[in-house]
Amino acid sequence: MATTFLTKEALGVEQIEPALTPPSDHAVLPKRPKLGSGKARTKKREIPEGLWTKCPSCASMIFDKELDENLKVCPKCQHHFPIGSRERIHSLVETCTFEEMDADMTSVDFLKFTAYKTKLDRDRKATNLKDAVITGICKIGVHRVALGVMDFSFLGGSMGSVVGEKLTRLIERGTEGNWPVIIISTSGGARMQEGSTSLMQMAKTSAALAYHAQARLPYLSVLTNNSYGGVMASYAALGDLILAEPAAMIGFAGPRVIKDTTHADLPPGFQTSEFLLDHGLIDAIVPRKEMKEQFVKYLDYLDAGGNPVLPK
Ligand SMILES: [Zn+2]
Repeated sequence: MATTFLTKEALGVEQIEPALTPPSDHAVLPKRPKLGSGKARTKKREIPEGLWTKCPSCASMIFDKELDENLKVCPKCQHHFPIGSRERIHSLVETCTFEEMDADMTSVDFLKFTAYKTKLDRDRKATNLKDAVITGICKIGVHRVALGVMDFSFLGGSMGSVVGEKLTRLIERGTEGNWPVIIISTSGGARMQEGSTSLMQMAKTSAALAYHAQARLPYLSVLTNNSYGGVMASYAALGDLILAEPAAMIGFAGPRVIKDTTHADLPPGFQTSEFLLDHGLIDAIVPRKEMKEQFVKYLDYLDAGGNPVLPK
């Protein structure tokens, strides 16, 4: 019996030429990588997050470690990034001399203001701070100083009852101890979630500073980016010496509000520390890296011959 081959021709099906010559049996084909395997992914330059920071002023990419070592100042253009209060204290005081005051004082949501408690909890967790200022007694050079440092990362450095009370106690302790007071400010202003209680802090801190001044003790106020609102309208503007970091924005209301209110064009550089130095509101601009050295120098001048004895 003849065998019938069922070829395509025999079946009347049109033969189609393959587009490519089929490889011989001996040809070695590269193995197709399995989908999802590590090798299949295209190699691309991956920059891990948190290693580099782009400078908003000169657009340089700065290695975070370098930025930390440089006290959060851009090594290329000297732009001053925000710095945490603990980091700043560490850069200013003599090792192991900082005795923190009222470390556990916390705000209470007495007005039941919308989302205030949630925001307090969020910032406490994120910053590991209890509120927007750290206060304590320390040594800077040979000088014992009552030092307060604000932190913008806690609710925009806003001044509520805790900030006001901690600073007032610090100033009073400075007066009792015959010590100079230094307050480094950064704030968006009074804390609206605490209503008029926030505004009362302006009078309280100012009164404490008046007693400190009566005792003829020096008070140095340092303004850093941003220093606005109720803080600028009280203790931050009352220094015997008012210093500022370069290019810090300083004022009561912001430039946009002033422009809208006055309907006038604002001069270039309005509200920067350089502008305010030219117009006499501040006494000196001190770069962050020179701050400690300058504090020692100023305190040497102001404290020359020891604390003055007041005539009775
Ligand atoms: Zn820069």
